[in-house]
Amino acid sequence: MLSIENVTSAYGRIEVLHGVTLHVDAGEIVSLIGANGAGKTTLMHAISGVQPITGGTIRFEGEPIEQRPAHVRVTFAISQVPEGRQVFEPLSVKDNLRLGAWTRRDADLEPDIARVCALFPMLKTMWKTPAGALSGGQQQMLAIGRALMAKPRLLLLDEPSMGLAPNLVDHVLSVIRALKDDGLTILLVEQNASAALAIADRAYVLETGRVTLSGTAAEIQTDSRVKEAYLGI
Ligand code: ATP
Repeated sequence: MLSIENVTSAYGRIEVLHGVTLHVDAGEIVSLIGANGAGKTTLMHAISGVQPITGGTIRFEGEPIEQRPAHVRVTFAISQVPEGRQVFEPLSVKDNLRLGAWTRRDADLEPDIARVCALFPMLKTMWKTPAGALSGGQQQMLAIGRALMAKPRLLLLDEPSMGLAPNLVDHVLSVIRALKDDGLTILLVEQNASAALAIADRAYVLETGRVTLSGTAAEIQTDSRVKEAYLGI
């Protein structure tokens, strides 16, 4: 579904992705793990089109998309849940969800709103509350719900467990599994490497802008370098 080849990206003159190659097959959860500053968010932004690339190709279902602007990539069914949620704080829960569907041409949002509320029942109880008044965990659920409203086939999830209480982390992870079981393809960036590997099919390790390791989640989990550097074992 997604194929990234030799992608480079820079902030000004400073290159932070140095030729990243990876792929995500339809129906997979692929986790991208790595330390702070490794380039995970930059790569997510490069896929969604928020961050320009300076070289390489990004293909979605075979089509090169790296020249397409971010708002067009959303219409190709790629949605990003950004790091730090970035909900529209003054707007209600309902309007945040409706804005997630902005690019859709079909008018009937109700079935999708109902589906998001079934995944996150809390959202329905806070329907008219400004998103800025929600807790971090509630905002995370809203951010995922908002991305789902675009009807993605590929979901880019950047640090969904960041700052959440452990019970909420479990809930968010179980929703990610349920979305996969529903057929969604997911690229997941997580600092919480053990959680990310527990739900992934495959994983890549990104270090200072380069992929240094890839394999099935089971292979990565048992790699001695990963155990030491990312799993605290
Ligand atoms: P984190 O987990 O801390 O978000 P990350 O793996 O997602 O880390 P990035 O945020 O992609 O890493 O950052 C990669 C490199 O690019 C880092 O050295 C970072 O300081 C730098 N960087 C990120 N955003 C910018 C920016 N807007 N301007 C300049 N440099 C940036």
